[in-house]
Amino acid sequence: MSTKNLKTWIEVDPKSDFTIHNIPFGIYTDAKVEHHACSAIGDYIIDLFELESLDLLNINRSVLAEKDLNAFIALGKTVTNGVRNKLIEILCDENSVLKTDKKLFDTIFKKQSAVKMLMPVSVGDYTDFYSSIDHATNIGTMIRDPKNALMPNWKYIPVGYHGRASSVTVSGTNFHRPKGQQKAADSETPVFGPSKLLDIELETAFVIGKSTQLGDSISTEQADDHIFGMVLFNDWSARDIQTWEYIPLGPFLSKNFASTVSPWIVTLEALEPFRTKGYVQDPKVFPYLEYKGDKNLDIKLDVFLKPQNGEENKICTSNYKYMYWTMEQQLAHHTVNGCNVNVGDLMGSGTISGPDPSEYGSMMELTWRGTKPITLKDGTQRKFVNDNDTIIIRGYCEKDGIRLGFGECVATLLPAK
Ligand code: CA
Repeated sequence: MSTKNLKTWIEVDPKSDFTIHNIPFGIYTDAKVEHHACSAIGDYIIDLFELESLDLLNINRSVLAEKDLNAFIALGKTVTNGVRNKLIEILCDENSVLKTDKKLFDTIFKKQSAVKMLMPVSVGDYTDFYSSIDHATNIGTMIRDPKNALMPNWKYIPVGYHGRASSVTVSGTNFHRPKGQQKAADSETPVFGPSKLLDIELETAFVIGKSTQLGDSISTEQADDHIFGMVLFNDWSARDIQTWEYIPLGPFLSKNFASTVSPWIVTLEALEPFRTKGYVQDPKVFPYLEYKGDKNLDIKLDVFLKPQNGEENKICTSNYKYMYWTMEQQLAHHTVNGCNVNVGDLMGSGTISGPDPSEYGSMMELTWRGTKPITLKDGTQRKFVNDNDTIIIRGYCEKDGIRLGFGECVATLLPAK
């Protein structure tokens, strides 16, 4: 359903992430509520469990009181899109009882600043791709050979690896600098200690909305039916640990200590107006990776670094549209061998870098492996992330007067334990 000409009776700043065009899903808690499913409009969350006391959403109310959205999402898109469309209808209905009944309003609508957002889904499996051509080219140039920056497989396979779900946490969850083995290029033997090259990875992730059976494959055409929505994602990485451990089986302890997700899942349906053309893929991809239509997305992404007690510094401006492989291709590839997926599984995009140096999605690229430090407003410099630095990712879409955003993906790096 198009939301283009809709207007809500709730006052919403046009620059808000949570306009009537968004209506995302999340889980919140406060002093009174342990965990309820919610949506958002303007500065408010909408408690869906409380709202369903009015019997408007036509679903089993208990699904809205669970600790995650998994059971809600598993109801399927017909139901979840129905809920979203009903919410839009209520929020645009000038005669809604919610508008006139102040007491009812206060039970259902709560200021976002007064609640705490929880992990939106229980993540069973987390997969991370490597699908931005500028990122893969930059990393290949730095750690291998500028002439052969992309591995021979890169334009044939949406390269990925299986990450770790246990350490995927919601925005606001801080963590300690990881320790591990590192070996400097000019040293014969490794050392053990806190990582010295702690990095960010600007990513988004999509949440699986429909499970499959072992042996099943999802085609690019079917993929959107299996993608519930998207979140912002910071896939923290310890570059020094990574360099020493990653051959031959890929990253291990350099990536499994923390990954941060934003708390609101923006539905694929809300993102549809922001579809845009994908890359021209040359060489031609295998038939199972071919797709029809515009499957890329224009999502503006910004990264900020905030030193302890300091100001925010914007360190990167990128865009989801720089992805060479689309989500539909990633999911088709992931399942082409019969690998099953489950509701709540998380699929990371891989670091999203653009062609301009201001669009690089990691410190590794922004400072070109530490050779070009970033100078912050307070005069201090960064090659990588310092203890007590906070990293904030924000993302939004804007087109033809329609705007929606993802909220924030925030975490602070604490000193090593
Ligand atoms: Ca990553």
